[in-house]
Amino acid sequence: MTLFERSEAIFEDENVLHDDYQPDSLEERNDELEQYTAYFQPVINGSQPRNIFLYGKTGVGKTAATKYLLHHLEEDAKQYDDLSITTVYLNCEDLTSSYRVAVALVNTFRSPSEQISRTGHPLNGVYEKLWTELDQIGGTVLIVLDEVDYIGDDDSILYQLPRARSNEKIERARIGIIGISNDFKYREKLDPCVEDTLCERELHFPPYDANELQNILEKRASLAFKNGILEGEVVPLCAALAAQDKGSARQGLDLLLEAGDLARRRSDSVVTEDHVREAKQLLEKQRIEESMKELTSHGHLTLLAVVSATVSRPSRVPFQKQDLYEQYTDLAVATDRDPLGGRAFHNHLAELSMLGVLNRTKRNDGRGGGIYYEYEIDVPIDAALSTLENLHMSSELDLESLWRNAKEGGLV
Ligand code: ADP
Ligand code: MG
Repeated sequence: MTLFERSEAIFEDENVLHDDYQPDSLEERNDELEQYTAYFQPVINGSQPRNIFLYGKTGVGKTAATKYLLHHLEEDAKQYDDLSITTVYLNCEDLTSSYRVAVALVNTFRSPSEQISRTGHPLNGVYEKLWTELDQIGGTVLIVLDEVDYIGDDDSILYQLPRARSNEKIERARIGIIGISNDFKYREKLDPCVEDTLCERELHFPPYDANELQNILEKRASLAFKNGILEGEVVPLCAALAAQDKGSARQGLDLLLEAGDLARRRSDSVVTEDHVREAKQLLEKQRIEESMKELTSHGHLTLLAVVSATVSRPSRVPFQKQDLYEQYTDLAVATDRDPLGGRAFHNHLAELSMLGVLNRTKRNDGRGGGIYYEYEIDVPIDAALSTLENLHMSSELDLESLWRNAKEGGLV
């Protein structure tokens, strides 16, 4: 019996929609690319490179633009015999300290048989090894630290690397750092000395609007799907949905991929708007499920408290902490748990807001009212309820009546 058979009625090449696909050209980023290119000009001139800090929300093309420009820079440098350019790309997601970044850098410069282990060296020893490697390579070395905020507070590497030459740790190499971050506040958290060097040149990538997303997605869709497979409104709808939400090209591409996948699984002959809408719900649900995995049962009850409050008192949205706290303590008692204190409850609300499950707004009620927060659910109610249904504790909760009330209230 054959279990697997090739089925390619929908996609020409679905890899084109995956995140690691590097497009040949970038749409809608002319101004930013012009600026970015100018920042790299000293490299081509053979001078000391500038350190660049690139920021913008997720999915706005920061990684793609950086890889695109570095590729061109390396190619174009070949016409000048006196230039030697080495580029290194590191994503810091797993590199949560300066030590780890330094080890990763040493290892990218070394052959597989000479790798150093990830633990057990003094930090200074690793830096010494790094300076030796850098001087052996010589020339211009451009180091991209993508998602640089993951390095956290232990960021001495961001101080050491840009100063290595002026501090006479290295002689033959000129280092340029390109730091990339989604976190707008990251800059403010940096030590002023680090900020001064790392953010020597700055660049911001704003979110895309629906028209921009449509151009980006159209180009990609024409490579990914077979001809005539997409109904006319599919790409504009993906673009509009992604623009309404975060203006992220990644989100638009994910919608296209998921919609195509739904059509393929059902052996439908075309991809329609309905596939896109269903794909949106599926992706939303996945996103909440991912976030929920990180939470404790009190985190889950906190979300449930917000959902119940929204369903039973929709006219009162958004809620203040004390409205939700009562609901939460009732739920905790009903499920045989000791309710957390107000402060810990507040932390759970803050965490859910950080995960994008709740929306938190700061209010300033002058005249003695002080500062307080208001919360409302930031994901579809049905997605939140289905996520809660899949948790261990779901049998202890009365989710059925919540579903019923939500339906009656037109919330799902
Ligand atoms: P970021 O690093 O800002 O989170 P990425 O650079 O990874 O975002 O972009 C997310 C996805 O969108 C990638 O698949 C990328 O190729 C694509 N993309 C983003 N901006 C553009 C653009 N201007 N033109 C073409 N594709 C783009
Ligand atoms: Mg990125």
